[in-house]
Amino acid sequence: MFLEKLVNQNTRKGWIEVICGSMFSGKTEELIRRLKRAKFAQLKVEIFKPQIDNRYHEEEVVSHDRNSISSTPVPASSNILLLANDIDVVGIDEAQFFDDEIVNVCNQLARQGVRVVVAGLDMDFMGKPFGPMPALLATAEYITKVHAICVECGDLAQHSYRFSENEDLVLVGEQESYKPLCRKCFSSKYDEKEMLKISKSKDEIDEL
Ligand code: ZN
Repeated sequence: MFLEKLVNQNTRKGWIEVICGSMFSGKTEELIRRLKRAKFAQLKVEIFKPQIDNRYHEEEVVSHDRNSISSTPVPASSNILLLANDIDVVGIDEAQFFDDEIVNVCNQLARQGVRVVVAGLDMDFMGKPFGPMPALLATAEYITKVHAICVECGDLAQHSYRFSENEDLVLVGEQESYKPLCRKCFSSKYDEKEMLKISKSKDEIDEL
């Protein structure tokens, strides 16, 4: 008991783990797996995610078994600091949608002895680093990149290719507008799309 106290409270060390990858790579599942394992060890766990639309309810339960973990949507990353009082393991899902302050929030939690497990998309649909993810990856002690399977060739996929015309960075609840692609297939699809755009705008000019 004495030793347990010593380990859990006096010498508790915090750190940051990042799980990154494309859509359909199982990031959230990996986050939940890690947090469930911690919960099984009697640690207090909670998942926070950005409130980007009214898709989320006030508090959502990620799974319905005995080890269910509540997932709390928050409007800004600073809310996590206020809500994470007394929590041993903080999970953060969809971290790419948080404001840049999320990096300081994670570091502060880690300094306070909290284990922070972050999951997020490392690249947007154009293949560019997504939001605060590069800074989180640079600051983390441990990084795991998970992969989806390329739907074109079956290799490991790291890109979330969007095949709708929408150019907005955030396309919420539109999973069916994306497919996972490897670098090679993404590059050729992207070139194809760009070429199509160029020829389309040429047509428009011709019509004028
Ligand atoms: Zn491929």
